[in-house]
Amino acid sequence: MIAAMFPSIRCAAGCGRLALSGSKLCAVHAIDARMEAERISELIKSRQVIRDLNAPNLAFEDRDFSGKEIYECNFKEACFSKCSFSGTIMTTVFFAKASFFDCDFSHSDLQFISFAEAHFNKTTFEESTLINLNFLGASISNCTFTSTDLYNSRFINAEICNSAFDDCNLKRVHFFKSAQANVTFKLSNTWEAIFEVNE
Ligand SMILES: [Zn+2]
Repeated sequence: MIAAMFPSIRCAAGCGRLALSGSKLCAVHAIDARMEAERISELIKSRQVIRDLNAPNLAFEDRDFSGKEIYECNFKEACFSKCSFSGTIMTTVFFAKASFFDCDFSHSDLQFISFAEAHFNKTTFEESTLINLNFLGASISNCTFTSTDLYNSRFINAEICNSAFDDCNLKRVHFFKSAQANVTFKLSNTWEAIFEVNE
């Protein structure tokens, strides 16, 4: 499924990973992975609409991706530190096993995004539309989802601590098998969320 979504050119080093967009090599075999992250960042910065970008395993720090439209891109296992995605529109973007520290997804419109097994710390999703998002097995600490629409998003097996889901639409949001510590749901419709599986 992933190979069909993103360009499926394999790394010339023969490792089996997908090559980075604009390169013959993957991030692991790139001669200078920092330069590759710089190149990909500039490419995103230069366009309003970003589509079919393959950028897994890269590290992005202090980047402003705010206001962009990002479709069908692959950032699997990428690391983002102090990056802004505020006001972005994204559909079908793959962030599985990625990590986010001090990042901003506020005022964004995200649909069909995979954050499976991703790590989040100090990251905000405030006042966003987050429809059909997959946080399966994700770890979420010190994050805020205040005033977001999380319709049909899935936090199955996620570990969530010190985070706020206040004033959210939780209709059809799946929290089952998730571990929660110090998580607040003030003014949210928790009765429409699914916290336990009926076996
Ligand atoms: Zn490779």
